[in-house]
Amino acid sequence: MTMALPVIRERGQREVFCGLTGIVWLHRKLQDAFFLVVGSRTCAHLIQSAAGVMIFAEPRFATAILGERDLAGLADCDEELDRVVGQLLARRPDIRTLFLVGSCPSEVIKLDLSRAAQRLSERNSPRVRVLSYSGSGIETTFTQGEDACLAALVPEMPNAAPSDPPTLLVAGALADVVEDQFARLLSDIGIEHFAFFPGRRARELPAIGPNTRVILAQPFLGDTLRALVRRGAIAVSSVFPFGVEGTTSWLLAAARALGVADAAVHAAVEAPSRRATTAIARYRARLAGKRVFFFPDSQLEIPLARFLARECGVELIEVGTPYLDRVCVTPDLALLPETAVISEGQDVDRQLDRCLASNPDLVVCGLGLANPLEARGIRTKWSIELVFSPIHGYEQAGDLAELFVRPLDRLERLAV
Ligand code: SF4
Repeated sequence: MTMALPVIRERGQREVFCGLTGIVWLHRKLQDAFFLVVGSRTCAHLIQSAAGVMIFAEPRFATAILGERDLAGLADCDEELDRVVGQLLARRPDIRTLFLVGSCPSEVIKLDLSRAAQRLSERNSPRVRVLSYSGSGIETTFTQGEDACLAALVPEMPNAAPSDPPTLLVAGALADVVEDQFARLLSDIGIEHFAFFPGRRARELPAIGPNTRVILAQPFLGDTLRALVRRGAIAVSSVFPFGVEGTTSWLLAAARALGVADAAVHAAVEAPSRRATTAIARYRARLAGKRVFFFPDSQLEIPLARFLARECGVELIEVGTPYLDRVCVTPDLALLPETAVISEGQDVDRQLDRCLASNPDLVVCGLGLANPLEARGIRTKWSIELVFSPIHGYEQAGDLAELFVRPLDRLERLAV
């Protein structure tokens, strides 16, 4: 498909989180997995502060800090890592899948984590599977950590038998409540065979093969999608299930891929989509005509901008995304209004200049940019909240619209 909208490409200084952030939601989803960040005190600090709530439970993530004394030799680092992993697994028999997560420090980059994972897997087989991926800020932004984690799981998925019936695989970590809602909808539509990836247990991976039809639930999973296609799965292209239009289109695409008639989808979604339309209408009046500027952060920007423009009447000034993966977002991109500027990557100073010159009503951005913009009287929405909140599907459509209304309401309350 050709793309009508021109794209500004920038490769300058960025203001985004690294891929370690994904651990915050992945550890909640994969209840039998543990994430061991091999990194520095900075990494430990990021993870602890981003996931501060974990004081209530035995955490399922930690940081192995390879201190200066390990710089003497890589053999030392390997030994140190083996020792830390040995201690961890002895203390935590509930861990069935252990992810070694790479980071930025040069001593970590020099370590061959995939070889270490293989060695530790063999040593602890069959009780624990050890895998590795990179969450380094040099290689990944924010949500790319989930992509790297899921892509590392794909080779572990069992082969589907050629005689297996066509199965829908929904890829992307979803809050359990959203997963349950989608499971009910897919059943109501008449799709009998479906699975979620990741499910709640990293150990119980769905089978994959030429009978698998994979549909993404998150727009930042390009590498995972490509890895699934290499295993024989057929990719289903769709807009993402945000808002009524997005959710209905997504379900229609899934149903068509499984040979289920559109009429079955329309019948099943009639009531929930009506409820969602009513829920959004409450906020549409507050959002219509508001001018919104997206800084690149989570790769959710393009589908969310489509929802805001088409279902909430928002005027899009610029929609920035850290990486424009056309395999994933072309259907959403095609629905954006022609007046929106699309930008990929970042040169933060130039983008800030464009943002300030455009005098937006609302800016969606990372935490680092929110404070300086608020200080200038510009309302901001933290993009991290959009990743941490359940926003998919009909039942969340009103909440999604409300997330953008809240900062505007705050402005009015302050003005009273
Ligand atoms: S950017 Fe690098 S050093 Fe900083 S927290 Fe992320 S992985 Fe660690």
